[in-house]
Amino acid sequence: MKVHEYQGKEILRTYGVATPRGVACFSVDEAVAAAEQLAGKRWVVKAQIHAGGRGKGGGVRLARSVDEVRQHAQDILGMTLITHQTGPEGRLVKRLLIEEGAAIEHEYYIGMVVDRSAQKVVVMASSEGGTEIEEVAAQTPERIHKEVVDPVAGLKHEQAKDLAARIGLPDTVLDRAAEFLLGLYQAYWDTDASLAEINPLILTTDGKVLALDAKLNFDDNALFRHPKTRELRDLDEEDPNEIEASKYGLSYIALDGNIGCLVNGAGLAMATMDIIKLYGAEPANFLDVGGGATTEQVTEAFVIMLRNPNLKAILVNIFGGIMRCDVIADGLVNAAREVHLTVPLVVRLEGTNVDQGREIIANSGIEIISATTMADAAEKVVAAARGQG
Ligand code: GDP
Ligand code: MN
Repeated sequence: MKVHEYQGKEILRTYGVATPRGVACFSVDEAVAAAEQLAGKRWVVKAQIHAGGRGKGGGVRLARSVDEVRQHAQDILGMTLITHQTGPEGRLVKRLLIEEGAAIEHEYYIGMVVDRSAQKVVVMASSEGGTEIEEVAAQTPERIHKEVVDPVAGLKHEQAKDLAARIGLPDTVLDRAAEFLLGLYQAYWDTDASLAEINPLILTTDGKVLALDAKLNFDDNALFRHPKTRELRDLDEEDPNEIEASKYGLSYIALDGNIGCLVNGAGLAMATMDIIKLYGAEPANFLDVGGGATTEQVTEAFVIMLRNPNLKAILVNIFGGIMRCDVIADGLVNAAREVHLTVPLVVRLEGTNVDQGREIIANSGIEIISATTMADAAEKVVAAARGQG
């Protein structure tokens, strides 16, 4: 789960991580009142969306007067902000963060993630803050420094200080920077975060170490034990199809291709997408119906997939293990009857009672292309999609 920058910063402050002072706003009037309340001579008006790269897209603007705050707030609220992370359709801005402006001496990068091979949290740091870290990693990987954290001991002060020194923070602020990293690590650990990214962490001209930006993602599997974090969820930032799918126990993720996939089990779903690609086409979505695949679920899955204007064909690939193929076939046929299918449907069933399942499909009177192996299914669905132009 993702949260907005201002929410991330609120969490970080409770761990003693220094950030600029700021106020979240939902209207221009609130933005103006926030600027007056913060006082000072410089403010930053920041679009709050669940995507980075806002600065380049015009979603982060410096204001030198309250009037400029009003102007920027008017411009940004309601704009469709396009960044390299939003995709070409962009994201509608509904919230703002008004912050006191900071005088930047240097921008650094800090990131924390779980390193799966080390099975530990790794802290990454770089002197190249403010830019896209992916580019730094590709072009000058030696400028990214790492510390692996022992899960029992936690991040140690000396370790944090050493990392701060390696990215070139001046000696006078190393202890302060270490405290910053320890606070960030504790926040990451306590909240079951999956990612903490401070880009940039800044050194101000008067020697402060601040999180100028903050991105916190949380592990969905741990949300059950973090009710307060769950309240921060912003459904406006999520794909409505994915939200609706989750109500039916479907894991649905929209993709760019034109072949809809309906599969039971995440592993089989991944393999299905792979084989579609191998046969020269692109999946329109990832969709895992879980272990079951009931009529209701399959109907909903069809409805969601058919909303996609790019859809050219659907591949259903179900392994009947605990659930028998004949039961699944009944569900499929019922769902196909209920929904008006406008694209070809290829079905591959395998597992218990597969022959009865195939017979039900063959005798259903519905136009269904039956497939046997994974390769057969992929070949047929790719051909069917091409036939649709
Ligand atoms: P992002 O583009 O979505 O990652 O948004 P950031 O919060 O990282 O802001 C982008 C850039 O705006 C930063 O890297 C800074 O260079 C600049 N910026 C943000 N806040 C301030 C500020 O208070 N003062 C100054 N001078 N620049 C700022
Ligand atoms: Mn940033």
